[in-house]
Amino acid sequence: KDFVANASHELRSPLTVISGYLETLSHDERIDPALRTPLLEMRRQSLRMTAIVQDLLELSRLEATDQVAEGEPIDVGELMARLRSDLLVRMPATLEVRLQVDSGARLRGEPAQLHSAFANLLDNAAKYTPAGGIITVRWWSDEQGGHLAVADTGIGIAAEHLPRLTERFYRVDPGRSRASGGSGLGLAIVKHVLQRHGASLQIESEEGRGSTFSCHFPPTRLVAAGR
Ligand code: ADP
Repeated sequence: KDFVANASHELRSPLTVISGYLETLSHDERIDPALRTPLLEMRRQSLRMTAIVQDLLELSRLEATDQVAEGEPIDVGELMARLRSDLLVRMPATLEVRLQVDSGARLRGEPAQLHSAFANLLDNAAKYTPAGGIITVRWWSDEQGGHLAVADTGIGIAAEHLPRLTERFYRVDPGRSRASGGSGLGLAIVKHVLQRHGASLQIESEEGRGSTFSCHFPPTRLVAAGR
């Protein structure tokens, strides 16, 4: 784990330099037009490497201890609204993202970790949902605890893959994952963050119809509204 963390850290600066120069070159008028496509592809791949290195670093940080995340009360509705607008900036406006906040309870947790986990689920929903689809994010609470579900009307996942989805680098369709810039580590990060919060991940999906990823937090993680 230390080795992976150190190696990822070391790779960061050279990758930043390479991506930076590729960005500059791809806009340079003097570049032979025949080189434009390979340059763009190199730039895309260098961004992918950067994303993988970032996710590796995050995962090794999460795996470094089994400590339970204490954290602070987080307004989940507000966090989801922020993630939604971040997503809409990055994604083409061909997807509808609905927010449904049915509980005023706040969630006690590590803000950066939860941000990263929920962002990964939302990113996946967007990556694997074709144009015209709908993503619904819902936060609710009951006697079992707090629940956050991200549902999409996307490509779905065949049942045989579901048990392995949170493994590092496990992909249903490696080509599609790469094309969408995925690191293959997103769900492994989600699983670790949830474990640290005493929460569990539930995945329901049907091929061709869509998927729902639900995070279930125990009642001890909830802070009633107004407290
Ligand atoms: P990736 O970076 O490849 O998206 P993840 O760990 O986030 O890696 O997800 C693992 C795999 O699970 C993906 O490659 C994809 O095949 C599948 N997957 C994740 N989320 C969804 C979703 N919302 N709809 C369909 N497939 C999904």
